[in-house]
Amino acid sequence: MYIGGYPRQLRYYRASSLSHALELLSEVGEEGKVIAGGQSLMPMMRLRMSFLNNLIDIYGINELRYVKIDGNTLKIGALTTHQEIAMDPTIARNMPMLTRAAWTIADLQVRNRGTIGGSLAHADPAANYLPALMVADAELSIIDKAGQRRVRLSNFMLDSYTTDIKPSELVAEVDIPLDRYNAFGYSILKRGGNAFPIVIAAVAAKVGNGVVHEARLGVGGITAKPLLIELNDIEGKSIGDALNSAQRSIDASIDESIKGTRLLSDIHASDRYRLGAAKSFSLEAVKSALGGRS
Ligand SMILES: Cc1cc2nc3c(=O)[nH]c(=O)nc-3n(C[C@H](O)[C@H](O)[C@H](O)COP(=O)(O)OP(=O)(O)OC[C@H]3O[C@@H](n4cnc5c(N)ncnc54)[C@H](O)[C@@H]3O)c2cc1C
Repeated sequence: MYIGGYPRQLRYYRASSLSHALELLSEVGEEGKVIAGGQSLMPMMRLRMSFLNNLIDIYGINELRYVKIDGNTLKIGALTTHQEIAMDPTIARNMPMLTRAAWTIADLQVRNRGTIGGSLAHADPAANYLPALMVADAELSIIDKAGQRRVRLSNFMLDSYTTDIKPSELVAEVDIPLDRYNAFGYSILKRGGNAFPIVIAAVAAKVGNGVVHEARLGVGGITAKPLLIELNDIEGKSIGDALNSAQRSIDASIDESIKGTRLLSDIHASDRYRLGAAKSFSLEAVKSALGGRS
């Protein structure tokens, strides 16, 4: 009998270490899933949109909770919470758009429990991190009992709520190169309270001697998978010229990349509204990346 709001009966395991979690995952196979902060999975289980026989709790595995710099790479353990990311001085110094992405997730309760690995594995098309990490060229380290593989975030996310992760695998780490871009912008449109974003725009650019050498834009909230766009039209231009022509370049690039694609639309924002907002907020992200730079 279905009792509204309660998940179906299942077996619960608490992993005591990373190797224990991988062992459990290989045992239960497709019959189970891991739970990290539970901020997406628990609501889905309670609404009975997710049916599981086995739940493996990985939240207590401290081996996967860290922020560090190794050479030119910022490394974030998958179980690092949104609040830890928002408050981390190393991230604020090196990748400020990620700080902003984390700060603008929901509210303190959600940020205190939710994890970066859980957010990426859940792959909500309007999740805060996706556009920021995609433009920054983030890679994921994915592990199972047999070993490790690496995958670009832009290839990891296949569609809304769909990734290339296998039942026996875990997202272990998010790696962000720090030597590729030196200017970042992040702009987000949200309703009030702890609502999900409507549109998110993130920009990573390489700027030097007053010239924009490279610029890429990520846009979430309008398509099933966030858009990743090279802003070729503003590359090679002075910052002033790039800013002057940015809106034209953004509009043309977004229109081109959504051709033949169904846009997201719901009771909070129609597809037309989302598209218009995406273009405006993309310009804001470009301005915040390039503004004040020389
Ligand atoms: C009220 C509310 C408001 C929210 N608002 C926002 C918002 O504004 N912006 C935003 O981006 N998000 C928002 N969220 C979602 C939130 O960011 C979640 O924390 C996040 O999506 C999931 O992280 P988690 O650790 O809670 O994962 P869980 O809910 O535990 O798991 C989610 C999925 O990921 C899988 N998973 C978890 N960890 C791993 C791992 N390491 N490896 C492989 N698979 C894994 C699970 O099996 C499950 O399928 C909101 C959530 C709530 C409840």
